[in-house]
Amino acid sequence: MSGRRARIRQKIMLRVHVDPETGCWIWTGPRSGKQGRGAGYPRMSLDGATVAVHRTMFIIEHGPIPPKKQIDHKCRNRLCVNPSPDHLEMVTHLRNMLRRDAAKRGEQKHDHGGREDRAAKPGKP
Ligand SMILES: [Zn+2]
Repeated sequence: MSGRRARIRQKIMLRVHVDPETGCWIWTGPRSGKQGRGAGYPRMSLDGATVAVHRTMFIIEHGPIPPKKQIDHKCRNRLCVNPSPDHLEMVTHLRNMLRRDAAKRGEQKHDHGGREDRAAKPGKP
């Protein structure tokens, strides 16, 4: 297992540029698409599957990521794959969802008065 990890790590490091100022390990390989929530993240092919490089790096260093956890970029650099706690942080999916929901509710607060009702009925023929 450790041999496989070392091999994957080596494969990743070949395509990483270490930024001496921020300490970020910038991925120079392929990325996910340009649009959508999962866009702009480092991607690589591993055993025939496409994986997120920062997640793979985290797993190599810290072990498996539990299903309800996500990897957040603490350094705010989506292309960073540095598994150190200053760069990649494991957060709960729930925490992310709650944060998103709270933001959504805040936006819609002023927009409450019948309009929502109309929108909810998809005018069936
Ligand atoms: Zn970073």
